[in-house]
Formats: sequence, structure tokens, C-alpha cells
Amino acid sequence: MRTGTKQIINGVKAAVAACVMLFAVNLPVLYAGTKQDGTSKTETEKIRVVTSIVPLSFFVKQIGGEHVDVTVMVPPGANPHTYDPTPGQMVALGSARMFVKAGSGIEFELDWMKKFKALNPRMVVCDASRDYRSRTMQEHGGDEHLHGRIDPHFWLSPRNGILIANNIEHCLATLDPQHKSEYAENRRILEVRLEELSGEIMQKLARMKNRAFMVFHPAWGYFADEFNLKQIAAEKEGKELTPKTMQQVIGQAKKYDIKVVFVSPAFSSLQAETIAREIGGVIQPVDPLSGDYIDNLRQAAEAFVASMQ
Ligand SMILES: [Zn+2]
Repeated sequence: MRTGTKQIINGVKAAVAACVMLFAVNLPVLYAGTKQDGTSKTETEKIRVVTSIVPLSFFVKQIGGEHVDVTVMVPPGANPHTYDPTPGQMVALGSARMFVKAGSGIEFELDWMKKFKALNPRMVVCDASRDYRSRTMQEHGGDEHLHGRIDPHFWLSPRNGILIANNIEHCLATLDPQHKSEYAENRRILEVRLEELSGEIMQKLARMKNRAFMVFHPAWGYFADEFNLKQIAAEKEGKELTPKTMQQVIGQAKKYDIKVVFVSPAFSSLQAETIAREIGGVIQPVDPLSGDYIDNLRQAAEAFVASMQ
């Protein structure tokens, strides 16, 4: 726990209590407003959902439709391996009815989930990765003692997207059974789109002989598994590369004739640039945390294919 976290939590608890009181006072007024217009949902009627990372908010919006109001904890551009929520976010959490976590071991959730739950014990926690098949990180430097680490980036494959959709449908239907059939229908539509996406990517890759791509941050392992590709990752455990591992990575890039080093927009890319320079290649961004889930996976696939040609 970081210095001062306890004081922040206590302060936030008081603020949450104050907000709940204000909310209770305002409630009848807001509902009166709804009855008059009667057409669209007001913010108070919607289910307030908080997700830990941006991609999960895509699924909640698609499946929950007009019944949900979604906010995200780790904002666009921030790094979920190191992010700490703001006091304002902690306060907002007090009125959330559901929290969707990745559940796959992202540091942000490991550090904060217990505190979130303590702050709002009535909030339902939905595990987006329930029943998923985890993979082990094959980070560079496999000769060292890093074998058993679970790869937390499970959302980055269409197949796991379908699993996330199912899990979120289940959570919403349990919380709000009145709109169960709507959630089921929205999930079905999304599932068809994800199956189409998977088929499309499969087709693009069908004739590729060279199936290796290089990323700086190892976020695309589930994607590589689904499409029978080889992800070569430079970084391990978010740490700077030593000169020795740097040389190993450069050696691997040359072995697989790699000319592109893919970087996540949220991470510093100085070392990635060094690798690119050494192999006479370039760096190129691919986003593991996009809210435009389907188009983003399509674009990533296109970028990987182009780099392997
Ligand atoms: Zn990551």
C-alpha cells in the first residue's frame, strides 16, 4: 500500500457517505423529472457500471445498451500495470452497482479490488474472465525463472471476446432480470460480429508462412494463440531491458527477419526504438486497451500481417 492511501480511503469514505445522503435527498426530484418526459432513461434509472479497463467498457455498452451508464477506472492512455485511482474516482465508485474486473491478474486490480469492495460492499463484482483458459507468459529470457507467470492480457482475442460477452450478459441479467432477453439478444449480435472478425483474421493469415511478430510489451499472446502466430516480446515484467537481454532480443528479431517492433501507446518506447534501429526496422503502435474493440483487433491483425510479409 502506498503512503497516505489509508488517509485517502478514510477521507473518501466520509465523502461517499455525504454523497449517498445528497443522492437520497435528490432522488425523488430526479424521478419526478422522469415521469414527466417518459421517453428516454434518466441517469438515475440506468445501472451504474464501472470497469477496470477501457476494452471491458465496450462489452458492457454493447450488451447493456440504454440500461447502463459505464465509466472506466484506468483512463485511456494510462497503464493498468501501474495505475492508481484518483480520490474522485473512489468517490464515484460509491454509487456504482456493478464493477467489471478483468480478473486475470492485472496489477491495478490486484492492488485495489479489496479496497473498492470495502468502500462499496453492495456493489456486484463481475469477473469478465470467468471460466477462461489462461496462458503462461513466454517473456524474453525464458532461461531465467519466469516460467509460471499467467498472462493477464486475456481480452485481446476474438474468442475471449465471446467469453467476456457471455460473462457480462450473465452478470447484467442477474442484476437486472427485467431486461434479461434484451441482454441476451445484444450478446448474440455481438457474438456474431466477433465470430465474423475471427474468420476474417483467419483468412488474412491463411497463406502466411512467416508467422512471427515482435512486440515490446507482451500483450498479444492470446491473440497469437488463437491465430497460430508467434509473439516475440522484448520486455519482461515491465522492466527496462538489460544490455544482455537487449542483445538477445535483437538476435531473435534478426533470426525471424523482423522489421517492425510493435509498441503500446501507454508505454515508453525508447528501448523499442533502439531495437528497431539495430535491426534496420521501425516501431509501430498497436493498442491493447482500445475502446473500439472490434475495429482495433482488425487493425492490429492487419498491422501484424503487413509486418510479416
Ligand atoms: Zn500489459
